[in-house]
Amino acid sequence: MSRAEQLRANLDVVRRRIEAACDEADRDPAEVSLVVVTKFFPASDVRVLADLGVTDVGENRHQEAEAKAAECADLGLTWHFIGGLQSNKAAAVAAYADVVESVDRPKLVAPLSRGAGGRTVDVLLQVSLDPPGADHRAGAAPDDLDELAVAVTGAEGLALRGLMAVAPLGEDPGEAFARLAAVRSAFLEQHPRATALSAGMSGDLEHAVAHGATHVRVGSAVLGPRPAVQ
Ligand SMILES: *Cc1c(COP(=O)(O)O)cnc(C)c1O
Repeated sequence: MSRAEQLRANLDVVRRRIEAACDEADRDPAEVSLVVVTKFFPASDVRVLADLGVTDVGENRHQEAEAKAAECADLGLTWHFIGGLQSNKAAAVAAYADVVESVDRPKLVAPLSRGAGGRTVDVLLQVSLDPPGADHRAGAAPDDLDELAVAVTGAEGLALRGLMAVAPLGEDPGEAFARLAAVRSAFLEQHPRATALSAGMSGDLEHAVAHGATHVRVGSAVLGPRPAVQ
């Protein structure tokens, strides 16, 4: 099988999974966007994906993302930055990312705003689903979202669109995403236009769709296993 045939077959499976999950949850599949996570895979794969109708791609490491976005600039894709953000890299990320999904502290807001450089960058706030007191992987505590949302809303060049989360390792993703849905519904009362919810990956997208995800971030189910070293 050529790479294109392989990716086409994998994409078909993932799109069918999303449709089935929407069916199950009584949702319109048009409400759920697929972001294909291309980290560790070459720009040539991004090209193939664009050919196959993929419009949104996700990356989690700044240098790799920056290079790939530049190489693929002609494709008109929407680039999502989904990785941990260092404040000294935030301005550079905002220069090519269309959506930054991993904003989890106020310190990132000024450099992102500066880096947007007159464009509008969409922002999702990453919320931690770890139990309180746990070793936080990434993400703001739910109690801190409001302050962060206010900072983003007040910043030039940034548009607050919603929330993003990753299910904690070792926990049933259904339970984690149920908690996320509750956090989101409280958040929407304060920020009714920030309706995006990015949740769900290759292994748990069905649970995420069941709990209201509007974006799923799928890597390995489309591109195959990543190299072990991360
Ligand atoms: C890598 C990554 C994904 C995709 O994970 P898969 O299990 O390969 O689908 C989704 N979200 C984030 C934040 C990631 O870093």
